Amino acid sequence: MIRFENVTKRYADGTVAVDDLTFEVAEGELVTLVGPSGCGKTTTMKMVNRLTEPTSGRIYVDGSDISEVDPVQLRRRIGYVIQQVGLFPHKTVLDNTATVPHLLGAGRAKARARAAELLELVGLDPSVHGGRYPDQLSGGQRQRVGVARALAADPPVLLMDEPFGAVDPVVRERLQNEFLRLQSQVRKTILFVTHDIEEAVRLGDRIAVYGEGRIEQFDAPAAVLGAP
Ligand code: ADP
Ligand code: ADP
Repeated sequence: MIRFENVTKRYADGTVAVDDLTFEVAEGELVTLVGPSGCGKTTTMKMVNRLTEPTSGRIYVDGSDISEVDPVQLRRRIGYVIQQVGLFPHKTVLDNTATVPHLLGAGRAKARARAAELLELVGLDPSVHGGRYPDQLSGGQRQRVGVARALAADPPVLLMDEPFGAVDPVVRERLQNEFLRLQSQVRKTILFVTHDIEEAVRLGDRIAVYGEGRIEQFDAPAAVLGAP
């Protein structure tokens, strides 16, 4: 579903963020990208939805070379969740979630019904939380809205960049468990960045262990933990 072929990213100042990366992620697979800060995880993600372009190499999503796909069309098929989810502050939670279905052509009532479904899917009660504004939610609840919104276009691919990084450990564990349950229902192809090896192990079908712009190991959690 996602394939990197000899992908290198050199930023304008000469920094080589990603160095000759080749890997493949299967449909419905959840791969966690783990490693210290600055080793190229976010750059890898941003190249998948063309927020930044590789210097060389090719990236394929669902068989298409993405350099030939219009970025707006591409992003419709790729949900993106980041640590500081940017919700519209003046829209309710329900309307934040309904925006994408509405933009994609659903009528207002249908978009809101779809949004309510999505909120339930991520463990929020539409009748309780749907009418609130983002600043009336806890951090954990805001991240859930971010996940619901990313799912709104029903994209086959999800990019998640430390989505649970800003909440406390107890809430994070609850979000991780709920997220695993959600993934067992929706089965998206997911790249999930974390710097927390425990999170990488708990969530990943496979783990890509990063170091200095390269993937040093790409394997199932048990194999990564068993490595010397
Ligand atoms: P990670 O997500 O693993 O923390 P990043 O992909 O954000 O790593 O960064 C990889 C390297 O690229 C780092 O050395 C970082 O400083 C550098 N980098 C990231 N974005 C830019 C940019 N826009 N311009 C120059 N260098 C950048
Ligand atoms: P979570 O585990 O989802 O992060 P918290 O334990 O932080 O939730 O919050 C507990 C409860 O407090 C939740 O039901 C949430 O709705 C409520 N709450 C948190 N922050 C606010 C706020 N700023 N305004 C209103 N309710 C809030």
